[in-house]
Amino acid sequence: MIPVPFLSGKRVVVMGLGKSGTATARALLASGAGVMAWDDNEISRRSAAETAIPVANPLALNLARADLVVWSPGIAHTHPQPHPVAEAARAASVPVVCDVELLARAKPDHRFLAVTGTNGKSTTTTLLAHVLEEAGIKTAAGGNLGTAALDLPELPGDGRYVLELSSYQLELIHSLKLGVAILLNITPDHLGRHGGLEGYIAAKRRVFDFLIPGGAAVIGVDDGPCRAMQAELSRLGMRTVPVSVTKVMADGVSAPEGVLLDNGKAVCDLKTLPHLPGRHNWQNACAVYACARAEGIPAKTIVAALATYPGLAHRQELIATSDGIAWINDSKATNADSVEKALVCYDHVYWIAGGQAKEGGIKALEPLFGRIEHAFLIGEAANDFAAVLEGKVRHTQCGTLAKAVAAARNLAVSDAIPGAVVLLSPACASWDQFKSFEHRGETFRELVTAFADGGEA
Ligand code: ADP
Repeated sequence: MIPVPFLSGKRVVVMGLGKSGTATARALLASGAGVMAWDDNEISRRSAAETAIPVANPLALNLARADLVVWSPGIAHTHPQPHPVAEAARAASVPVVCDVELLARAKPDHRFLAVTGTNGKSTTTTLLAHVLEEAGIKTAAGGNLGTAALDLPELPGDGRYVLELSSYQLELIHSLKLGVAILLNITPDHLGRHGGLEGYIAAKRRVFDFLIPGGAAVIGVDDGPCRAMQAELSRLGMRTVPVSVTKVMADGVSAPEGVLLDNGKAVCDLKTLPHLPGRHNWQNACAVYACARAEGIPAKTIVAALATYPGLAHRQELIATSDGIAWINDSKATNADSVEKALVCYDHVYWIAGGQAKEGGIKALEPLFGRIEHAFLIGEAANDFAAVLEGKVRHTQCGTLAKAVAAARNLAVSDAIPGAVVLLSPACASWDQFKSFEHRGETFRELVTAFADGGEA
């Protein structure tokens, strides 16, 4: 836990009692602050109250008497509709911040590195932390992913905090000082929460406002908004490192053919890295390389660490290889965009898909249908997906994940195609049959290891 002694004796409202809000309330209480916590969800309120977190509806209090509101980034504070507590705090001129702001204030002299972007944040954050650790630097990673900001451990002075930051968090941070900021990519997402694409881009752009003098801005320049931002920052005289996986960067890090090039010079073959498959992961690896070099880590050390990265669960995670078939858990792929990233990596796919449908469906995947030997459909979206696949991809309605795994195994073993994979990459949310995408992925793991025993993975 990170203590926040500068808030001792202050009155702090904590809005949202999920992982970050609960960690914030605990850190505040341990530091002697007066806490009033709230969540619109009654179950969350009850479980907080059971752990001695004081709970009260901020709208029933005189908010003007509060010194600070710590906001959980999951709750809308501006768009599409500001939460009434956010409006009340603004009307009472009480500052609204997120937990990362408190971490930044608690550690004003510490070295922070941050990762943001529409896709790849978690992979890049954990990969960067792995590289730093392998280089002998004490590192703690968290923020939007994994450990909440104020639940991170205390580090020695020369350690590094690596923060994954969402656009929602970036809007609620002011004091953070970053040694390196990584912006991987921007594609339209969460537009409702930012009042449109411009607002979303502006939120992401904030990450560079936190760079210390001489700090490096690592930017993926393969999309328009990021390319424009890199040009702008560079015009402003900031130190930028452009990253591309489509073009060679003479002054930057690139990997158009899968070989990482540092200022155009070949450094390592990313295609051989076992847990970073696909072009999207080349982007993540290039950004990490650029950041680690900016942190003074020798190229050789970084390259060795890229090879030992264990990967993240539920993102093209190899669970086992059994009867020559690789079983891959990509449960995090909840939309067609993410599924596409996985499909392009394999030539012979037994595809398990379906769940709670998301807007857009799987039509966009049609150019990749040739890679799919057979689709096994589950959950609510099964009929819709079947209609899209009809006449193009052989498919079976399986209903449940267990039935899909059994059917995929039967067919893949009997086809015995060299290099075949069974890929759970659902293109759907999980909530119709599971608690979360993690729960869906863990269920898949259990089903697969029951026969594959994990031994050959
Ligand atoms: P995030 O934390 O931003 O959601 P993750 O690292 O958890 O990102 O990856 C989630 C999914 O996003 C992956 O399964 C993959 O399909 C896709 N992805 C990962 N990295 C990238 C990238 N650099 N560009 C585009 N898509 C990516």
